[in-house]
Amino acid sequence: MLPRENTKVVNIGNVKIGGNNPVAIQSMCNTKTEDVKATVDQILRLEKAGCEIIRCTVPTNEAALALKEIKQQVHIPIVADIHFDYKMAIAAMENGADKIRINPGNIGSNEKIQAVVDCAKSHNVPIRVGVNSGSLEKDLIEKYGGHVTAEGIVESALQKVKLIEDMGYDNLVISIKSSDVLMCTRAHELIADKTRHPLHVGITEAGTVWSGNIKSSIGLGLILGQGIGNTIRVSLSADPVEEIKSAKLILRTLGLRTGGIEVVSCPTCGRTNIDLISLANEVQTLVEEYDYKNLKVAVMGCVVNGPGEAKEADIGIAGGKGEGLLIKKGEIIRKVPEAELLSTLKAEIEKM
Ligand code: SF4
Repeated sequence: MLPRENTKVVNIGNVKIGGNNPVAIQSMCNTKTEDVKATVDQILRLEKAGCEIIRCTVPTNEAALALKEIKQQVHIPIVADIHFDYKMAIAAMENGADKIRINPGNIGSNEKIQAVVDCAKSHNVPIRVGVNSGSLEKDLIEKYGGHVTAEGIVESALQKVKLIEDMGYDNLVISIKSSDVLMCTRAHELIADKTRHPLHVGITEAGTVWSGNIKSSIGLGLILGQGIGNTIRVSLSADPVEEIKSAKLILRTLGLRTGGIEVVSCPTCGRTNIDLISLANEVQTLVEEYDYKNLKVAVMGCVVNGPGEAKEADIGIAGGKGEGLLIKKGEIIRKVPEAELLSTLKAEIEKM
C-alpha cells in the first residue's frame, strides 16, 4: 500500500482527503476576506479552473463574519488560515469554516490551543497543523546541528500533532513546508513513515510562475511520485488560477489524474516553416475551455517529421509553407490553409 493510501480519511466540507481519495487541489485567495464580493468572485474563478478546496486568511473578526456570507455563494470547502490569534480560529469555525489551518507554535499557551481544539471538536472541523522551516523552534535547530533540517521540521510537526492528540482530537491534516525543495522532499519521506494523518504538500514561497512552477514540479514530483501526499497547493506569485492550472498538470503528468487537454508541441528547429511558438501558445489558451475532455493535442512545426513525432496525440496540426496538416494519431487527415489551422483544430476537438 502506498503511504498515501495508508492515511486516514479526513472530511473537509464535502471533500474527502486521505486514504484512496484522489489528491485534492487547493489554492489560497489573495483578496481581503472582508471583501465578500472580491473573494467570492475569485473563488468562483478558481472553482471553474478546477480548485477543490480554498483557503482564506482570517486576520480579523470581520473576515470571520465574511466567511458565512462567502460560503453561501461558493461550492467548495473553505479553510480558514489563522495566525497568532486563537480567537480568530474560534470565530472562523463558528462562521462555518470547513477546516482551519494553524501553527500551534504561534497560537500561544496550551490553554489557547485547547480552546481552539475544543471548538474544532464541537463543530467536527479538521485542523491542519502547519509547520514552516522559517519558524522552526531554536531547540530543534540546535538539536540538529545548528541549522534548519528536515529532521527538525518533522520533529516540530509531530510534537504539535501529539499536543493536539493529547487534547483529545485527531481530526488532523499535517503540512510541513520549506522553500528548499530537497529539504522539503526529505521531510515528507521522513514523516510519511511516522504518521497516518493525511499530508498537505507544497513547496512554499516557490516564486514567480516561471521559477515556482519548476520548483513545485520537481518537489511535488519527487514527493507524490513516492506515493506521499493527499492534497497539494502550488504556491506562485501570480493569479491563483495559475496555481490550479499547474497543479492539474502536475497531477496529470504523474498519472494521478485524468481529464483535461494536454498540449504537446515541438521545440521548433531549422525545418519550422510557421510561427509555431505563437501557434502553440494559442492552442494552449484554446484548450482551456475543453477541460472536461481527456485528450492529447499536438502542435508540430513541420510536415516532414511532425506527423510521426505526434503519433501519440489524439489530434494535432503540423505546419508547412502557407498550409499545414491535420493529423490524428500520427496519420495525415487532410491539408489545411495556414490561416485556418487553429479554427480547424478547434472544430476537431469539439467533435471528440
Ligand atoms: S516537428 Fe519538425 S519542426 Fe518540429 S522539431 Fe521536429 S523536425 Fe523540427
